[in-house]
Amino acid sequence: MADFFTRVRRNINKGISTVSEKSAVFLETAKIKGQIGKLEDQRNELLQALGHYVYQNFAAEALDEKFIAEKCDEITALEQAIAAKTEELEAITKAEKAEPEAEEQVAKCECGAEIQPEAKFCSNCGTQLRE
Ligand SMILES: [Zn+2]
Repeated sequence: MADFFTRVRRNINKGISTVSEKSAVFLETAKIKGQIGKLEDQRNELLQALGHYVYQNFAAEALDEKFIAEKCDEITALEQAIAAKTEELEAITKAEKAEPEAEEQVAKCECGAEIQPEAKFCSNCGTQLRE
């Protein structure tokens, strides 16, 4: 009987660790979403600044192409960082969905046969399992 309770307790602990793994995935996902949000804010600010710059200087024919090219490069770099983070996020979500249900742990005899909770002898090889 003691073994049975040990096994039940083990299964309960396993349940808890599965839950904490899930919340770890949740935290990681939330973290990456936050990072994507910040990158998008930076990109939007740059786009806006670039738009203002072009608008204000276009009429005066005072556009500095080098400045514009630099800003465009910065925006492209942010776009790439956002794409990379989005992929990372998708990979985590996919991995979580693909993860099979954890196989339930069963007690096994040294011969490899499963042991029933109350069995005194292995039904396969006859080894005595408990007093
Ligand atoms: Zn056996």
